Amino acid sequence: MTERVPCRMEGCTSTILPATAARTGGYCMPCVQERERQERQAYIEKHRRTVNLYENVTDPVEILQIGYAKQVRDPLIRYVPYPKKREELYQELSVGDARRMKEYALKLLAEGEKDTAIDILTALVCWRNDEISDVLPQLMERRIYDPGMMYKDAPPEVRDQLLGQLERDEENRNLLLLALGWIGDEAVVNQFQEWRRQAPAWAKQLYVLPEAYTREAGWELDEGGGRRELVSPASYGIVVEKDLTAEAVRDAEEPVGPGFLQPSDQVCPWCHGSLVLLMDVDGAHSSLSGLGLEGRLCIQTCERCGGYSDIFMELDEQGMPHWSPYNHEPDYLPDWEEESDGDGIRLPQLSLSSVPRSPYFAAVWALSQSGSQLGGHPGWVQDAAYPLCPCCSRSMLFIGQLDGEDIEVYGDGIFYMFYCPKDRMTATCYQQS
Ligand SMILES: [Zn+2]
Ligand SMILES: [Zn+2]
Ligand SMILES: [Zn+2]
Repeated sequence: MTERVPCRMEGCTSTILPATAARTGGYCMPCVQERERQERQAYIEKHRRTVNLYENVTDPVEILQIGYAKQVRDPLIRYVPYPKKREELYQELSVGDARRMKEYALKLLAEGEKDTAIDILTALVCWRNDEISDVLPQLMERRIYDPGMMYKDAPPEVRDQLLGQLERDEENRNLLLLALGWIGDEAVVNQFQEWRRQAPAWAKQLYVLPEAYTREAGWELDEGGGRRELVSPASYGIVVEKDLTAEAVRDAEEPVGPGFLQPSDQVCPWCHGSLVLLMDVDGAHSSLSGLGLEGRLCIQTCERCGGYSDIFMELDEQGMPHWSPYNHEPDYLPDWEEESDGDGIRLPQLSLSSVPRSPYFAAVWALSQSGSQLGGHPGWVQDAAYPLCPCCSRSMLFIGQLDGEDIEVYGDGIFYMFYCPKDRMTATCYQQS
């Protein structure tokens, strides 16, 4: 047997065959590879160039197109990111420039760049609430139905085609039901009511009743088969104060209230930690009109246990929330004593923007970076999960959401907030990916 020799690298305890030593100058293979890696890294750092693709580009459409173009990954190039968020750029587009983006999406679609085309169309719909009815025939031709909200303004011909398609297209039936939910016009409401009266043969293949799909689009069939709204069409971003643009700084036009993420003096009966007021706002704010509120609306929850169970609070005469006896302690809750070092560091104070935004702004989760809002459509991380009011058993109305990223450093998931005007009951629910 050949005698092995130790690797020459200081601190390395490996031994190698003399043949290897002769080839590598006495080093073991892992040490050789590590040295090569370090040399490569030093080379990259020495020769790396900074490239700003946006330099001297002022056309917002061109700026967006550069952002969508796939850059060749080259370790020797560091690309300078554009200083504005994509969602801000979209909101600032003129009507003509938004039309150019739509045309660009169609061009990409024709070239087979389906994913980017859908991203652009979804951005136009969500962030600007733009009409894209004219491109729907081209989406249908390619059987593109997701996300369904692209179809929300579909004209009757498109709606009827979707209804026809639904009967034959088993593979896309889920997506077709969602798209129809987003259309939600009288004919669609009547159709869902018809399916409630007489379940279609294909309903057996679904995991839920056909009518459950409409909740993804923010409405449901009421007892009489009419359309009951679960969301408010008025929506305002809740943002970290330093990110407020000058025009969006809170002014006196709308009542706001004390704000968001205030400490509560009440204690969670499950974990004995302090409860938190996710929001405490004036019920007269336009995003809450329709709830019939007098005075303030406080949404209180346990930030810890609220991740494991919907949490209900009952509002007293003064609008103060109290832990509801309807809450059921979940079978599993972590031992918070052991996890207490995970308590996050709070971010700077949140404020309500005074500039309304599209009610669909955050409706596609993961599209927007600014998910926190009052009013509008929830951005469900998973399936829509409107809590049922424990008093009247009806779906509770969505009033806003706070993104975990806006709550604390390293926060994730979303806290959704709900209200039942009839029973003055609030609820929170939480979802994460
Ligand atoms: Zn070695
Ligand atoms: Zn708790
Ligand atoms: Zn109720």
